[in-house]
Amino acid sequence: MTKKKILVTGGAGFIGGNFVQYMVGKYPGYDVYNLDVLTYAGDLTKHGDIEKNENYYFVKADIIDYDVILALFEKEKFDYVVHFAAESHVDRSITDPAVFVSTNVLGTQVLLDAARQVGITKFVHISTDEVYGELDFDPTTFFTEETPLQPHSPYSASKASSDFLVQAYHHTYGMPINITRCSNNYGPYHFPEKLIPLTISRAVNEEKVPIYGDGRNIRDWLHVFDHCVAIDLVLHEGVNGEVYNVGGHNEQTNLEVVKTIINTLGKSEELIEFVADRLGHDKRYAIDATKLEQLGWQPMYNFETGIAQTIQWYLENKEWWGQIISGEYQKYLEINSSYSSEVISK
Ligand code: NAD
Repeated sequence: MTKKKILVTGGAGFIGGNFVQYMVGKYPGYDVYNLDVLTYAGDLTKHGDIEKNENYYFVKADIIDYDVILALFEKEKFDYVVHFAAESHVDRSITDPAVFVSTNVLGTQVLLDAARQVGITKFVHISTDEVYGELDFDPTTFFTEETPLQPHSPYSASKASSDFLVQAYHHTYGMPINITRCSNNYGPYHFPEKLIPLTISRAVNEEKVPIYGDGRNIRDWLHVFDHCVAIDLVLHEGVNGEVYNVGGHNEQTNLEVVKTIINTLGKSEELIEFVADRLGHDKRYAIDATKLEQLGWQPMYNFETGIAQTIQWYLENKEWWGQIISGEYQKYLEINSSYSSEVISK
């Protein structure tokens, strides 16, 4: 039987990295290609345990580089594409929106075009619940797949644009696609600029933990492992052309999240420091994932078990996040720039 080939873009990042490891372990019959340009958020050290595996490959490439991407698709003839690569940090999109349009919109269009030229079995686009805008604090309201898109930040506007392109390639060219829109992820290898790992790393080091505004903004937390299981399911069982929301009803205010972490670590809540609110800060996100549950998905973690696992992981992997928050990471970024755009073969 010929091996299936799967291209995972952004596989050096947080969720893509977890997904690459999940797929390499679960499907020895798949060749898993991790394509990543290695921005500040891309880190390959996390793949130390799989990089010798026969079914794992790394390609350094920029998704906006059409010639390189098309040549790769023509050479490798991928069966599946799971597209994570993006600029993903809302705060950065407020200070520098241009790169978000370039990577998230143009980059997605380049991948779609290359996939269309060569033909593929399924293109899964990883999007976000932030494309729906925000909810108020009424706990009975949720985002469904029918909620109109109303993005608020340059980040979510760029993701919504990419969602529309993916749907347009389905309707115009018949491309087999799915879109997943998930809530906030957390878990191992989360880059320490985001709320949960930032709080853990700062609390461990007895440093002030900043929290936006009054801390009442609500997020619906999804453990990255449950997200990987969901994507695997959508990739293989998702109905062509459909959008699936991914979330496990784990709503927490930012203040609750920070207090849980600080208390679990046995630190003082006096570490909490309220800072000026983020511009245009969305009040609440909450997902209705009924459609995905009907496809067969159930999360393994609730917030209590997931955050305990995550804190434990960060305590056991100080070396990984310690080098990122120290100057060592800058040296690592310089090493990244020496990778070539060739597929690294075994
Ligand atoms: P991340 O920032 O950790 O990783 C992004 C990866 O993409 C990095 O490895 C980076 O090097 C790579 N990349 C960036 N620009 C690239 C380019 N031009 N060419 C090739 N590679 C490039 O992001 P993440 O948190 O893992 O998010 C992955 C996806 O999930 C994104 O599409 C994001 O919008 C979506 N998402 C994330 C969350 C979350 O909570 N993290 C929630 C909802 C949706």
